[in-house]
Amino acid sequence: MSIHTVAPPGGLREVVAAAALRLLLQGLLKPVLSPRVPLALQRSWLRGLAALTLAPRGVRFERSTLAGVPGEWVQPVAASGVGALLYLHGGAYCIGAPRTHRAITGHLARFSGRPVFVPDYRLAPEHPFPAARDDALACLQALQAAHGPVVIAGDSAGGGLALATALAQRDHGGPMPAGLWLLSPWVELPAGQADASTAPAPPGEAMLSAAWASACAAHYRGPTPASDPGCSPLRAELAGLPPVWLQVGTDELLHAQGLRLHDRLEDAGVPVYAEVAQRRWHVWQLHAGVLPGATAAVRRAAAFSAQVLAGEQPLTAPPAPGAARRHRVLVLGAGMSGLCTAIQLKRAGIHDFVMLEQSSGLGGTWWDNRYPGARVDVPAPLYSFSFAPYPHWRRRFAAAPEIQAYMEHCATRYGVRAHLRLGSTVTAAHWDEAAALWCLRTADGRTYEAPWFVCSTGPLSQARWPDIPGLADFAGTRLHSARWDTQVPLAGRRVGVIGTGSTASQLIPPLASQATQLTVFQRTANWVLPRLDRRYGVIDRTLMRVPGVARAVHRFWYAVLEWGRRGFDEGTAARASMLRLAQKQLAVVQDPALRAALQPPYPLGCKRIIYSNDFYPALTQPNVSLVTEGIEHITPQGVRTTDGREHPLDALVCATGFDTTHLLASIDLRGRDGQRLADLWHDGPAAHRGVTVPGFPNLFLMLGPNTATGHTSTLLFVEPQVRFVIDAMQRTEAAGHKTFEVRHDAFDLHNAGLQARLRGSVWSQCRSWYRTESGRITALWPGFTAEYVRDLTHPDWREYDIA
Ligand code: NAP
Repeated sequence: MSIHTVAPPGGLREVVAAAALRLLLQGLLKPVLSPRVPLALQRSWLRGLAALTLAPRGVRFERSTLAGVPGEWVQPVAASGVGALLYLHGGAYCIGAPRTHRAITGHLARFSGRPVFVPDYRLAPEHPFPAARDDALACLQALQAAHGPVVIAGDSAGGGLALATALAQRDHGGPMPAGLWLLSPWVELPAGQADASTAPAPPGEAMLSAAWASACAAHYRGPTPASDPGCSPLRAELAGLPPVWLQVGTDELLHAQGLRLHDRLEDAGVPVYAEVAQRRWHVWQLHAGVLPGATAAVRRAAAFSAQVLAGEQPLTAPPAPGAARRHRVLVLGAGMSGLCTAIQLKRAGIHDFVMLEQSSGLGGTWWDNRYPGARVDVPAPLYSFSFAPYPHWRRRFAAAPEIQAYMEHCATRYGVRAHLRLGSTVTAAHWDEAAALWCLRTADGRTYEAPWFVCSTGPLSQARWPDIPGLADFAGTRLHSARWDTQVPLAGRRVGVIGTGSTASQLIPPLASQATQLTVFQRTANWVLPRLDRRYGVIDRTLMRVPGVARAVHRFWYAVLEWGRRGFDEGTAARASMLRLAQKQLAVVQDPALRAALQPPYPLGCKRIIYSNDFYPALTQPNVSLVTEGIEHITPQGVRTTDGREHPLDALVCATGFDTTHLLASIDLRGRDGQRLADLWHDGPAAHRGVTVPGFPNLFLMLGPNTATGHTSTLLFVEPQVRFVIDAMQRTEAAGHKTFEVRHDAFDLHNAGLQARLRGSVWSQCRSWYRTESGRITALWPGFTAEYVRDLTHPDWREYDIA
């Protein structure tokens, strides 16, 4: 494993210095590093601030010229060993100078015992790409000629320049440097303000802003496209590079870029060691001499430099192409629960993980379910992570694109993007008993290994097509709501919708306003309650930024929806008022025959309640017809119902839900002794508190069996699950153990109790995705949220074998 988390050293000095420096940078430097401030002022301001940094004793700084490039030698008084270092300073290619980086270069020379040359390479916009790279390359070649082996080091833009210089040398066929030390390297330039790499900086970033980076990138590249590997070396072929020591902080704009570079280097077979410094900002090593953690970071890199200059190989080569990629954690799925897992892993200091996602984007269910009208059916403030409130919601019941935007925002803010492996369809996952590892294989032949495996696929990921004869013969357009194709035109066509569940209730109103004729095939009428929606205006959004307000709103909706749980119990006031509301809602349908057809034939709450204000009105539109006769056959032209009627259609939409009883069925998932999960779950899925399964050590399920709810936000279940998972991992590892597994007796007891509670409940009184064919309720949690959260937050660890 080559990604290593480095916690800041303890001690008062580190804590006080870090807090003071962060404030100082945020107050005195960040505002000046702005496209609105003239570059001349930025340059002199940086020089002024650099006077406050501490150059170490035991080194001499001498102005000089190398290969015609002016610069500064940093000579250690006590020199030792062969070779030299070339240090390329940062400053977004537009500002900075050897003098501004003396704290780093001085400590580097002192700790490595080698001379360091710091060129005053030409800056943009006066000298755009490739001027800086040409200067650096000339210096590298001159140093190699005079000193033999050379390590190139560089921070930020200097890190990108170091990489680009090494690549240029490789392409010229010259001797390669002995190693690279890259500090918060800027290796991919944004193409413009709208580029994804100009996404907002994390809140802890003390120096950089996306706007400044964009402006400087434009100065540097001039007419060269941002995608040119010369100025964006992340895009270059990286094979053949020497060992790389990489350092990035968690609180910096370039955090994700650094991790992506690590992966690209490994893929290219380059030995790489990545240090991820907890709670450290962009190029915090500039404070070497003041901040103990910064001094230590330079010392480690200097030790690496000394080793490679002496001809030693301190890093092991990455796995050969085709060999398994080894990580600490594998996360399957990049929906809400996968995202939460990834964020919390990072917050716990675990950065060596990947998220394998079969889709081509982040979002999970929100990526798949792009049908018109898709929106969340709990208030958005409760459909946000408790640790990441979002002041930008535009409606109380947010639409799918807004939720997608929220997820993107979280992925950026918490640096999760670099861990995403999109387009990775996992086909097999086997537990290797001897190695105590999960081994995963993807459809494209890649393999991954890790001691820990978190399955975040949830219960609603496998679209279920209806088992109706003739479906495959339909000659028109066939769509499933959970595999929506936004390119398919439905306007002006005859459209049929099978199903009247939550999904159908959302897509029917927009389809009714597009289609010439919309035919809705209803097998079972459902309960519909009003959606208490409203727009969030400027005042709401401003208030949500006031400290404490977002938390209060979250708590308010938590309490309201928790009260709604009582609606599932006979004889409660909550149930009586829900029934009243449902009847009032249905009363808007004037036609008595239609109203009768929409009267649910099962007790309220047995299936998921629909929250909608426009579903019933849509069904009363003149171009919409509700068909309640059963579907006998699907023909090439449309649908034939049991009354013998033909319903000609151009497009058929199946809003027929998900296969929730064969969870993870698309994966050959095997635990101890090769036991298949599918065999264990032949009578439907089951887990201990929805998370662990006996015989499957170190496997965790997010939103696993019996953790869905009919009354509140699933995120309230996801968050404690993630906390539990990380706690379990850390306990196991801290005790020097390797495996964490729920005991069979605890699993049996838990599930027996659960099924006893569910027997005779409202959910047992109709067919739904909560139950298996045999009637066992395998999806739903029967109780209040608080009860589940308590059980998982204070687990009885004796229920698990930790070995
Ligand atoms: P669903 O609740 O399972 O509904 C499927 C619909 O298709 C039902 O009306 C079902 O009828 C019908 N159907 C299935 N097979 C059929 C067949 N062979 N012939 C005729 N009709 C058939 O699926 P969903 O509407 O996609 O919702 C699933 C869950 O996703 C929801 O309960 C909810 O938890 C979640 N969801 C959430 C949101 C949100 O938060 N905004 C939105 C959509 C979905 P029967 O009732 O007779 O089986």
